[in-house]
Amino acid sequence: MATEDAQHTAQHTDASASSGRIRSFKNDPANFLAESLGGLVNHHPAAEWHDEGFLGQRTPIVTKDGKPAVAVISGGGSGHEPMHAGFLGEGMLNAVCPGLLFTSPNAVQITEATNWADQGAGVLHIVKNYTGDVMNFKVARQGLEGEVETESVLVADDVATALSSADDSDSDTDSNDDGPGRRGTAATILVEKVCGAAAYRGDDLASVAAIGREVAENSASMAAALAPGYLPTSGKDTFDLTAGSMEVGVGIHGERGVSREETTTADSIVDRLLEPVVEDLGLGDGDEVILVVNGLGGTTDLELNLIFGQALQWLADKHIIPVRSMVGTFVTSVNMHGVSLTLTKASSEVVELLDAPTQAPAWPKSLGTGTEFSAAHQVFEEDLPDEGEENEWLTAVVERIQNATDDLTELDRLAGDGDFGQNMDAAFGSVDLPLKGEDTALLDGLAHRLFVRAGGTSGAVLGTMFREMARGMDGSDNSPKDRIAGLNKGLSAAVEAVRDLGGAKPGDNTLVDALVPAAEKLAEIADSAESFEDALEQTYKAAEEGALSTREMVATKGRASYLGDASKGVVDPGAILVSWLFGGTGQVSDFTE
Ligand code: ADP
Ligand code: MG
Repeated sequence: MATEDAQHTAQHTDASASSGRIRSFKNDPANFLAESLGGLVNHHPAAEWHDEGFLGQRTPIVTKDGKPAVAVISGGGSGHEPMHAGFLGEGMLNAVCPGLLFTSPNAVQITEATNWADQGAGVLHIVKNYTGDVMNFKVARQGLEGEVETESVLVADDVATALSSADDSDSDTDSNDDGPGRRGTAATILVEKVCGAAAYRGDDLASVAAIGREVAENSASMAAALAPGYLPTSGKDTFDLTAGSMEVGVGIHGERGVSREETTTADSIVDRLLEPVVEDLGLGDGDEVILVVNGLGGTTDLELNLIFGQALQWLADKHIIPVRSMVGTFVTSVNMHGVSLTLTKASSEVVELLDAPTQAPAWPKSLGTGTEFSAAHQVFEEDLPDEGEENEWLTAVVERIQNATDDLTELDRLAGDGDFGQNMDAAFGSVDLPLKGEDTALLDGLAHRLFVRAGGTSGAVLGTMFREMARGMDGSDNSPKDRIAGLNKGLSAAVEAVRDLGGAKPGDNTLVDALVPAAEKLAEIADSAESFEDALEQTYKAAEEGALSTREMVATKGRASYLGDASKGVVDPGAILVSWLFGGTGQVSDFTE
């Protein structure tokens, strides 16, 4: 009973902290780190595990000339991956001491790693500025038997913690006046790289330490998060964030930021973060910097690239030149949805050391050198004719689609992936009405728009359909009789082409279920129809019925097919759109109610 109670309480706490979802793959939490590290060493190109509690470089720790090198060691709490283990390898770190999640390594691990790594040229410790890390590295050095020469470099780049004492308005953190000082964050990897490259080049211990200190002192960072990280071992979020707010000045240990602010656009966030960084470093016109855009573990590359572009723009406006840049997920707070921006004053020596090759797998193959940003828009040529009489038929078709894109998306969301309306909006949204000109030219233009602007299956399928209709109607003298004959020819060719393209047959719950009856109906009445409008109206009835029949079908083609039975009960949006080629009110509700 006692155990059950304890379990119950634990689950309850989990649920309140993270809505009850387990958001981490794990076995027994007690083995979490050991199992993860055990996996890591088996794919890491340079690391081996030492039972004393550290990862060491597998190959000899030597300079590029094969002489004993200064060994560069780092370490810290786990949960910041790929830092530090990902940065282990010739030319960067030679040994790494991982602590438990968000917990500094212990002094014994560090002493053992230091003794192991020393080649007689001395050992450099790179330490992030957190009380536990600073203490344990210090105790570790005291534990050495005086035979190993050591130096240490302290990284303290986070300006948020420097600001927090001055800015008391929203702050929950204690005044910083006699606190531990600025935290060490993403600049750590720049220090590690520069020191590792200097050691590999053959610099002595004092010089390696000196260049490391230069980078540490000339770096500043600031971070913001849209969502907290989730601790795999405890199953808890690192802090709670209400809807619409973001944490500005977050650290990498899940500590809350220094202020909670309303979420805003990416460019404003970049401004919010870079402003204090630039001020801290005293940067101005013409200054050269290294820029690091770092994801905190739960931020997509899409977002990081976007933020990077905004940062380039921001720096360009201030005439600050990012001579090298890095964009990626380097120093994390488990899976926090956040970003940190780091600037480091660049000297030619620092740039050279950053550019030097390394075996460390998480260090980028090459650093960015671009300094200008412009959004990469796809430019479309105008593809529709704009001369002649109004084309009432195709104007009405486009009007129906334009007014229904949201409702079509909703249908695709219920039984598909929710992009159909967006795809149609991309193709038709910007068409100016009324359309002017003859059927063939307009259908051709609309086909082109479907091919180049719409994505998804619908772009290819409907583009093909419009193309075939255009071909069928080509050469029409625009008389009702000719238009009917051309459309009839076009529709049967479209059926053929669409079925050939996607393999869907009637009954598969696609637009084919509207297209086939429409083509059959038109073939049947082509000779007897009184007018083009009459032909369209009769064809519409058949297409509408075909579209309605999809409601009871299970999709076997397209994204909806992944849903299996869940696609049942929903009319296929593509089929509705096909029926609107011939008529209808343009109301999705005609098909759903
Ligand atoms: P995706 O399935 O790639 O998300 P869209 O949402 O753009 O594509 O388009 C979905 C529509 O495409 C469906 O409503 C359906 O009518 C049509 N469709 C899907 N697969 C096929 C196919 N194999 N042949 C013809 N039409 C198809
Ligand atoms: Mg879709």
